[in-house]
Amino acid sequence: MSGLGDAVGVPRYAWYSDEACYWHDPGLGVGFLPVGPDIQPLREFGSDPDLRRAEGLLRKNNILDYYHCQRPCPATDAELLLAHSPGHIAHIEALAANGGGEAGIYAPIGFHSALAARTAAGACVQAVTEVLAGTFQRAYCFIRPPGHHAERDRAIGFCIYNNLGIAAHAALLQGVQRVLILDWDVHHGNGIQSLFYDDPRVLFISIHQEGLFPPLSGTLRDVGDGEGLGTTINVPLPAGSGHDAYLAVMNQVVTTAASAFRPELILVAAGLDLSAHDPMGRQMCTSQTLRLMTQHICRLADDLCDGRIVFAHEGGYSSWYLPILVRAVAAAIVNLPEQADPFLHALANLPGQRLQKHQQRRIEQVCDIHRAHLLAAASDPRSLLQASEVSSRWSP
Ligand code: ZN
Repeated sequence: MSGLGDAVGVPRYAWYSDEACYWHDPGLGVGFLPVGPDIQPLREFGSDPDLRRAEGLLRKNNILDYYHCQRPCPATDAELLLAHSPGHIAHIEALAANGGGEAGIYAPIGFHSALAARTAAGACVQAVTEVLAGTFQRAYCFIRPPGHHAERDRAIGFCIYNNLGIAAHAALLQGVQRVLILDWDVHHGNGIQSLFYDDPRVLFISIHQEGLFPPLSGTLRDVGDGEGLGTTINVPLPAGSGHDAYLAVMNQVVTTAASAFRPELILVAAGLDLSAHDPMGRQMCTSQTLRLMTQHICRLADDLCDGRIVFAHEGGYSSWYLPILVRAVAAAIVNLPEQADPFLHALANLPGQRLQKHQQRRIEQVCDIHRAHLLAAASDPRSLLQASEVSSRWSP
């Protein structure tokens, strides 16, 4: 069975993955540190075999049967150049050809990583192209390495090429006037932000843990510049935020901003490291959170841009919970009911969940600031720019 959405009028869903991405090998290390004094060799998280296990769970549960499984082509030089300098591309190619090493800042790569990174970017370009062509309505790019930290001239935080930044540029070249990029990875999407900071054609909304990574990146005051003033929205949530906080942001900030902006395409940097089991963040979300956020943004795509939406896999470093989270998002995209999460009860009762009560006022404050200005923007999209004025007066 392939592609239940083949009947007339039924949405078609695409799943992009490729063996090349599994061959991205960041080498041995612990978390973000390479092997060194007192750092014992350990397999890095978030790449093979974690990804294979996640895709395996989808197969076991027959969820991939609802998708058209696509094999992406590696991005061309011309496509990579949409977001990167020639020097950066040459640096990655040469380093990988020599066996790999540190490609930038906390961005180790191996011999196969240059092709993996091209394939990850190519998957996003292909997904956007095929969604815009109407071949598919919703797409998920299950890729490695991730992309949202990568800047024009350097690799950062496991990210080599900015997969969604390249894809957004490809969409603009294909005639799209306005692209919304929603980034819910627990870390700030500094790379995507930098690519479109002065570009009013791309509304970038990042929901992330305040002050996590990169340090000092993604504050409420970072609201865009020049013609792009107001089309960058950062929602830094305090550590310990969880299910209710993230859904409140979806309801109060993302919906209002998206409705005012009226995107023609929505891209989602779908990091899964906002979960309570993730070693790289301190947020308290669960598979239920990811399921409801996915449903929410898909509904917005249905309402605002004929359902055109592309998800790209980003962070997610809990080896045991990653498959459950990928399944939650993948099932929600194809409108399947909630899948049983064997970890949910334990996660919902973690002592850390109580942190949310202490953070509630702060979360309301963040939402209030954005909501007041975005509501004004709903009647006049140009007044979206005014959000920057008030955000700049906010002091933590
Ligand atoms: Zn992340």
